[in-house]
Amino acid sequence: MPTTLPCSSLDRYRACLLAGAIGDALGAPVEFLTRREILRDFGPGGVRDHSASYGRVAAITDDTQMTLFTAEGLLRAERFAGSVAFRSDDARASGEAPAALATREAHVEAVAQAYLRWLLTQRERPAEHAGDDGLLGVAVLHSRRAPGHTCLTALERLAVAPAVAGSLRATNGSKGCGGVMRVAPAGLFCARGVGTDADVARAAFALGADLAAITHGHPGGYLPGGVLAAMVALLARDVPKTRALACARQILVTCSEHGDTLQAINAAERLSAQGPANHDAMVQLGGGWIGDEALAMALYCALAAESLESAVLVAVNHSGDSDSTAAIAGNLLGAERGMAAIPGRWLEILELRPLIDAVAGALSGAD
Ligand SMILES: [Mg+2]
Repeated sequence: MPTTLPCSSLDRYRACLLAGAIGDALGAPVEFLTRREILRDFGPGGVRDHSASYGRVAAITDDTQMTLFTAEGLLRAERFAGSVAFRSDDARASGEAPAALATREAHVEAVAQAYLRWLLTQRERPAEHAGDDGLLGVAVLHSRRAPGHTCLTALERLAVAPAVAGSLRATNGSKGCGGVMRVAPAGLFCARGVGTDADVARAAFALGADLAAITHGHPGGYLPGGVLAAMVALLARDVPKTRALACARQILVTCSEHGDTLQAINAAERLSAQGPANHDAMVQLGGGWIGDEALAMALYCALAAESLESAVLVAVNHSGDSDSTAAIAGNLLGAERGMAAIPGRWLEILELRPLIDAVAGALSGAD
C-alpha cells in the first residue's frame, strides 16, 4: 500500500499533471493541423503560448479529462481497499505475488468504472450529475474535446456488457495513442509504493499497461502505457531519466510482442543523443497517432530537452497528434523537473488548474 511522500515529491506530482495538461492545452488548437498550417497561422515560431479552442483560451482536451479520471479511479480503489474483498487465489502464469495481482486487478476495475463515468461526461449533460461528489459532478468536464473514437467505442461496449474481474482488456486490436496519453497517474500512484525502485517500476509498468488495455487491445496501444507509467514513477522518485528509461526498457522486453514499442523508444533515445530537441527528429519518429509513436516523440522531447518550455513546444509544433504528444512530454518533463520548470504564463490561465493541482496532491498522499 502506498505511503505518504515528503513535500519535494509533491512538487513533482503537481508538475507531472500540470505540465501534461499544459502540453494538452497548447496542442489542442493545432491537433488537426499540419506543420505548414501551424506556421501559417501562428507565425514562423509556431505555437508559443496558449490560444483559443473549445470556446476558451488554454482549454484542456480528452487527454487531460481521462488522466483525471484515471487518478480518480486509483484514489477510490485506495480509499475502499480496506473493504474490498481482493481475490488472492489467482497468481496466473505471471509469477506475480497473488496479493499484488489481486490488488492490481481491483485498481484496474476501479479505473474502468472511472472511465465509464468519463463516458457519461461525453453526453454533455452536466445537470444530470450535479450532485455527484467526484469528477462527474464537475460541470466543465461535461464537454466533448475531440475524444478518441477507440476510447468511446470500447467504453460504450463495456457499459452495455460489464466485464467480470480479469477480463477488462479490449479485444479491438487498436494501437491508437488514447491508451498511453492518460496513464501518468498510474506512475505517480505507484511511486509512493514500498520496495526498491525496480519493484516500483514493475508495479507501475503492469498497472499502466493494464489501464491502457481497457480500451486499446494491441500491444502497440497498451505497452507504451507501461513504459510511461514506469518512467513517471521513477522520475517522481528522483531517478535520473536515462536510468528510468533503461529500467522501463528492461521490463518492456519481458513482455510479449514488444518489438514495435522497443524500436520506437530506441529510436527516440538515439535521436536525443544528436542534439537539442528539434522538428526534423520528430518527423523521423512518426505522427503520434499510434501509441508507440506518441510515446517515442514525447520521450525524445524529454530526453533531448534543454528546458521544459522548449521541449514541450517541439512536442506541439508538428503535423501529428500535437495535444497527446505534448501532454505525454509534459508528464515526463514535469515529473523530472518539478514546478519551477513550468513557465508561469502557461500555468496561470490553464483551464481547471486548481482541480488538476488537487488531484496531484491526492495522488501524492498529501491532504
Ligand atoms: Mg486530445
